[in-house]
Amino acid sequence: MHVSDVTSRVLVQLREAGDYPDNPFLNAADLVPFFPDGCPDEAPTDWPLDTVDYEAPHASTICPGCVESWRADHRVSQPRPVPAGTPLSLHFPWAASQPVPATPGNGSRPGTTPQPAGTSA
Ligand SMILES: [Zn+2]
Repeated sequence: MHVSDVTSRVLVQLREAGDYPDNPFLNAADLVPFFPDGCPDEAPTDWPLDTVDYEAPHASTICPGCVESWRADHRVSQPRPVPAGTPLSLHFPWAASQPVPATPGNGSRPGTTPQPAGTSA
C-alpha cells in the first residue's frame, strides 16, 4: 500500500475538548487518515513519518475495526473521500491565544473591558 492510496479522512474531536478551553492540543479537532480495509500494521510506503505519527495501527489512524474504541472518548465523523494532495492529517485548535492578564487574580472576568497595565500597584 502506498500513502497515495489513503484517500479518506475522518474528523475527530475529544468529547471533553470543552473542558480545556486554553489547551490548543486538547481543545481541537483533527483530520485523521481513514483506512476502509483496516489500519495496516506498518505505515504505508512514503508515509511522512516526520510529520504524521504511525507508531502502531489504530493509534493515529482510524478504520472500521477501531472506530468504536475511538468513539469512547472522541466524536468521530463519517469517513469522506478527499482530493489527491490533501494532507494526511490536519490540526484545528479551537483555543484562541489569550492575552496574559496584567494583574491576575484581581477578580475581573474574561470578556470585561481590559484594564490598562500598571494600574494595580
Ligand atoms: Zn484502525
